Amino acid sequence: MTNVNTLIDGAKTIDINLSEKQIEKFILYKKLLQEWNKKINITSITEDREVDIKHFIDSIVPIKTNLFNGKLKVIDIGTGGGFPGVPLKIINEDLDILLLDSTNKKIRFLDEVIEKLELKNIEAYHGRAEELGRNEEFREKYDIAISRAVASLDTLSEYALPLVSIGGHFIAMKGPDVEEELKLGQNAIKLLGGKVKNIEKIQLPNTDIIHSLIIIEKIKATPTKYPRAGGKPKKQPL
Ligand code: SAH
Repeated sequence: MTNVNTLIDGAKTIDINLSEKQIEKFILYKKLLQEWNKKINITSITEDREVDIKHFIDSIVPIKTNLFNGKLKVIDIGTGGGFPGVPLKIINEDLDILLLDSTNKKIRFLDEVIEKLELKNIEAYHGRAEELGRNEEFREKYDIAISRAVASLDTLSEYALPLVSIGGHFIAMKGPDVEEELKLGQNAIKLLGGKVKNIEKIQLPNTDIIHSLIIIEKIKATPTKYPRAGGKPKKQPL
């Protein structure tokens, strides 16, 4: 019998009461994650309680920002095993989510997750953020770009901000200490049309882990020269 108390109690600490249906989806998601992870490397976190807290609860913490209300278009950049995009979708069915990753085997895993969890209006897409940002089909089309554990804030801003529509938000999910990264990221954020709105620090339930959400508003269009091609956002951050 799977113990779901960690998940249920963890969600309550951020004022989310999970329904039976949502709990079933999380259980199935974890099962698929643990099965696939035996064959291909999706995540280093596989122990039951760790998955509950470090993947599931951590992924739904951004709901606390109140930015996820309604039928919004969201892109999860470098989603890996689906974090935070899939848990956010389980919590708010109205979200229209693109799960983006540059590793194809993770996309195949996510296709199965989407099918088995019967999720609608969510797609796993194989590609690189800096390429999508130069493509009219994706550029400035998202209310929210969110990303966890993908790149430093300067590089990540060049991946994310071109995809966000004006008035929308980019949420970077980070560790406890963000001051240095913020300092280094200021120039990129400004050049790309963003403005730091807020930094929220949250302690993960039943742990001493502190995570930060850097919330950046898109206040101006991103100049057409960004994002730069050829791996520049990573090799030479703005
Ligand atoms: N967000 C997930 C995975 C983090 S690992 C989590 O927090 O668990 C980083 C992921 O980003 C990897 O799966 C990698 O393939 C992807 N990635 C790295 N650079 C990328 C880029 N430029 N565009 C899209 N995906 C990228």
